[in-house]
Amino acid sequence: MKLVFATNNRHKLQEVRDILGERVEVLSLKDIDCNDEIPETGTTLEENALIKARWVKEKYGYNCFADDTGLEVEALGGAPGVYSARYAGEECDSQANMLKLLENLTGKSNRNAQFRTVIALIIENKEILFDGVVKGVISEKKMGDAGFGYDPIFIPDGYGMSFAQMESTLKNSISHRYRATEKLNDYINNNI
Ligand code: IMP
Repeated sequence: MKLVFATNNRHKLQEVRDILGERVEVLSLKDIDCNDEIPETGTTLEENALIKARWVKEKYGYNCFADDTGLEVEALGGAPGVYSARYAGEECDSQANMLKLLENLTGKSNRNAQFRTVIALIIENKEILFDGVVKGVISEKKMGDAGFGYDPIFIPDGYGMSFAQMESTLKNSISHRYRATEKLNDYINNNI
């Protein structure tokens, strides 16, 4: 079967293709000649994932899925959450985002946080949501330089090192995105 993944991010495409295997041909936005800037105007991860998936289904007719991810920090009421990419401004600067988060946590003893990925799948007229969570804490300062985004300041529970200090294969085997994609894979295998 063919499914469009509403992204052009090569790393995400590879990760998802590896998990879904040969049964599913995963097409990117480029593969269907979609060059639209899909507006991410939702106020929750669920809304944004659905906006992107509905856009592809309604304008291009393909069964598809879309994802959205956020870092949810307990002491900040779940912020930056859906606004993670733009926390410190429209430039989407990871260094500035991390700095702002560390500043906002100064003096707070509760540093619990979680990464959460939501995937919205649309098959014909059916919409299904999956989520994947990895819990951890925000470190006092940056640790490691692998990965991207908030990786240098997120320490997943049970590992004693940040995502940016891990081999990518280890991170990818415990990550929020991996966990949500595994649920998508189970759904496809059991229902389609
Ligand atoms: P997206 O929805 O996958 O584009 O993720 C939104 C934002 O969340 C990114 O711009 C990053 O700031 C952050 N983010 C998502 N996944 C990760 C991750 O695995 N590590 C670190 N930051 C992430």
